[in-house]
Amino acid sequence: MPELAPYAVGDAGSRGRVYAEPRPKARSEFQRDRDRIVHSTAFRRLEYKTQVFVNHEGDLFRTRLTHSIEVAQIARSVARTLQLNDDLAEAIALAHDLGHTPFGHAGQDALNECMQGHGGFEHNLQSLRIVDRLEERYGAFDGLNLMFETREGILKHCSPARARELGELGIRFLEGRRPSLEAQICNLADEIAYNNHDVDDGLRSGVLTLEQLQEVSLFARHAAEVDAEFPRIAGRRRVHETIRRMIDAQVTDLLAESARRIVEAAPLDLDEVHRAPELIGFTAAMSEENRALKGFLREHLYRHFEVLRMTAKARRVIQDLFGAFVSDPRLLPPQYQAMAAGGTIERATADYIAGMTDRYSMKEHRRLFAVSEF
Ligand code: MG
Repeated sequence: MPELAPYAVGDAGSRGRVYAEPRPKARSEFQRDRDRIVHSTAFRRLEYKTQVFVNHEGDLFRTRLTHSIEVAQIARSVARTLQLNDDLAEAIALAHDLGHTPFGHAGQDALNECMQGHGGFEHNLQSLRIVDRLEERYGAFDGLNLMFETREGILKHCSPARARELGELGIRFLEGRRPSLEAQICNLADEIAYNNHDVDDGLRSGVLTLEQLQEVSLFARHAAEVDAEFPRIAGRRRVHETIRRMIDAQVTDLLAESARRIVEAAPLDLDEVHRAPELIGFTAAMSEENRALKGFLREHLYRHFEVLRMTAKARRVIQDLFGAFVSDPRLLPPQYQAMAAGGTIERATADYIAGMTDRYSMKEHRRLFAVSEF
């Protein structure tokens, strides 16, 4: 393993775990975290959770699981090249979407609406709640008992009110301090992964067209390059060759700009990283191209009528389920009834619904509402 930079997160300088445990024998602490995440129930569920396109619309679209693996791949290579802790970056990336509800952002928005007046619902906080409390795998503690820096990286953003409730983990939001560089990398690796795979999935679904994408400079520029170099390729191969180059250009830009900022700020240790401005980032030119790509996707993909139909249906499923359980808690599985007794019915219901896969939530909806099914 290449030597870590002095401002990287290492086992030795870590703030450790809530419950003290013996050091792992053959792995680093952050490799252990990654392994715990991969073995968790919430991680396996990501396979059947929507990214943008609902799972049953086609077998080739991204799911939360393949998205998380793509984020981990990008985060790991960036971290390694910058001499940062790639095991930590991988752990954060694999866990970053664990708290997502079924049906992507539509599901989160619906559940957040249902939870107004009951503490709200936010997928970052839910990811943290899963690794801190909801996973039941160890005799000695609830959750996965992950390292502080892994948990800090999972909690990407958080309101000041929430931050005050989170103790040690919330302090940085109140004091305006940055997370580790490994966590900053994961945020941007997430962005690179979804912007590019949404173009790919959008084209695959037929919702986006190649003609429309000509207005996106990042796409048009690389497609022209591909046409010049490979005038005879077409169809999916041309799309893949273009998107591959887009990802490469973004990663290369991120690496060069971040390395430049790190040299300029010259942090001596992790504490100086926390106090510095964001050191991981794109050049202004690439940020602008990314903004244009995002704007394009918002207009042409996320607000396309076929995607909005899915969104509207997802909202109904989640609202119906939430209403049914809250008005009659006896309909909840006993485990969640017990959680409601120790907390609130709304939070227990949100935990139950957020943990559902797309198809499980639809099945549960049929069980509760379809007169022809019991
Ligand atoms: Mg993500």
